[in-house]
Amino acid sequence: FSYRSMLRGRSVAVIGGGVSGLSAAIRLLEKGASVTLLERSSTAGGVIASSRSDEGFLHEKGANSFIVKSPAVLRFLSEHGQGGSLMLASTLNQKRFIGRGGRLRALNPSNGGASPAVDLLFYSDALSAVGKMRLLAEPLVLSNRPQLDDPRKESIESFLTRRFGRELASEVAGAFLAGIFATTPDRLGMAYVFPDAYMAGLRSRSVVRGMVSGKGKRRPGMSFEEAEAEKLPEEVSRVSLSSTSYVSEEWRKEWHKTYRGKSVSYFDGMQVMTSSLAEAVGKMGGKIRLGMNVTGIQRRKGVNSGRKGGKKGKKEGEKAFVMSISPSSEDTIGASREDQAERKTKRLEVDNIVIASSLKDVPEMFPSLPSSPSVPSSSVTLSPSLHSLLASCKKWPYAPLRTLGLGFASSHVTHPLDGFGFLCSNEERKRKERGEKGASVLGALFNSSIYEGRAPTGHHLLTTFHGGEGRPEAVDMTSTEVLNEAMDDLRNYGIVARGAEPVSVQLRSSPFAPLFASPLVCCPLLCHLSLLPFLHFLRFPSSFSTRPLSPFISSVFFF
Ligand SMILES: Cc1cc2nc3c(=O)[nH]c(=O)nc-3n(C[C@H](O)[C@H](O)[C@H](O)COP(=O)(O)OP(=O)(O)OC[C@H]3O[C@@H](n4cnc5c(N)ncnc54)[C@H](O)[C@@H]3O)c2cc1C
Repeated sequence: FSYRSMLRGRSVAVIGGGVSGLSAAIRLLEKGASVTLLERSSTAGGVIASSRSDEGFLHEKGANSFIVKSPAVLRFLSEHGQGGSLMLASTLNQKRFIGRGGRLRALNPSNGGASPAVDLLFYSDALSAVGKMRLLAEPLVLSNRPQLDDPRKESIESFLTRRFGRELASEVAGAFLAGIFATTPDRLGMAYVFPDAYMAGLRSRSVVRGMVSGKGKRRPGMSFEEAEAEKLPEEVSRVSLSSTSYVSEEWRKEWHKTYRGKSVSYFDGMQVMTSSLAEAVGKMGGKIRLGMNVTGIQRRKGVNSGRKGGKKGKKEGEKAFVMSISPSSEDTIGASREDQAERKTKRLEVDNIVIASSLKDVPEMFPSLPSSPSVPSSSVTLSPSLHSLLASCKKWPYAPLRTLGLGFASSHVTHPLDGFGFLCSNEERKRKERGEKGASVLGALFNSSIYEGRAPTGHHLLTTFHGGEGRPEAVDMTSTEVLNEAMDDLRNYGIVARGAEPVSVQLRSSPFAPLFASPLVCCPLLCHLSLLPFLHFLRFPSSFSTRPLSPFISSVFFF
């Protein structure tokens, strides 16, 4: 897809109207393709949705903010995603708390005044004196790696425990992973979540020594595999927003000066971005069809999708893919009469397909998938490796999550809320279950401390997170149970007064991102990727391989 000539005039269906699908549609339109985006719900945006309550609180369904990962993303947003309206998070955003023993403890009390390591060792009470000594001793510790067929399968828990001690692994890393990935350190791979620290440890036998000497450093944009092998692997995506040719020096300067490493959002919430991306798709001549559920994808035998030998065996006007779509509502942006007629046929023929849905939705699009790749099928041509990839999508772990937006009058808030929010480890949850001081929530955001426009004057907005991979039963909790859980923890941590009641409440459920960083999932995935040169992950806003669970990726396949 890198070459304009390959796409000009070709019809491409993009499945999924979240930020990934919308961005893919824009890039394909820029390259001259004729794009139809199919989204099964009645609005575009996917898990990104913002709504302002009658009282004036801004509640987010999914992402609250994001980091503009590269100058290319900045340029992309400026052109198509209201980049001019991006709002930087307040400087308080740097300060993070963890809940430990029923108390909030700042990891970096100086809020950027000292380096994170100095803050944690000398100013923070997040670790005990023994935990801090163990951290300091890391360069001297000799520890053997566990015997694994692939070293990349080592979990974060195992790696951090043997290098830095159990306390850092379970209390600090555990809190971060619960808050960011909604899971625990034993479920994620060190090499995928913290590749720099992993490589520093690999190369110099001490993470601290390796990081100080720069041995964990990768070239910007370099994938973990590249760095490990010191060569460019074949599977590196050819479709990349961060490709160096895409941005000029001007964008680089602007990005370095203002956005690098900073969290951003919009005054009226994250949906500003997805709404303007959807508008851009329409303006560029793409069609967005809302309420269209893709229920089947078939590939015509002998018809190539336009790559090598694309003309071979192809009849005039015949497309490589036939899709079955079932309309579920009448909403269409830019739909003409012909479009309406075409919608009723419930069939769409295209040259190429981009799947930008969650991984868990992918298998449903291949109902005629033979149970074994060796069983011949009249309609589906799938290589054994693609077959097993699709089959593994079914088993992909997702962390279920419930989010609760809570608006309070300032007079009921007893904490200065001087930070980004707090995170709680599994240990903290276990303490609460044992009847000790602890908490049940995964964490909370202090929304109105980070961004303007989140709460009316004299009020604060908080968002609490519930559930996670280790607690799937949270999905079945009633709204009253979730509210009680949140209020209990907020009161115990001294965030709101004992008698405080929220003036605005909004509860939402969503499956959280797939656990790409799970070592058990990542290794087979990379193996599949290397076998499938035509399968790509859209790298937005950062690369899949440098940060496996990058914010805006659930899954994007290019067929
Ligand atoms: C609660 C929560 C908080 C988050 N917080 C942050 C954050 O603070 N910062 C951050 O960077 N990221 C955050 N994320 C992650 C980020 O929001 C997501 O990774 C990103 O929005 C995913 O976008 P997407 O387009 O890849 O997928 P989605 O938004 O899931 O979009 C996929 C779309 O595909 C559609 N679809 C699926 N199957 C079909 C089908 N068969 N036919 C047609 N359409 C189909 C779906 O309806 C959906 O609209 C958060 C996520 C959640 C859930």
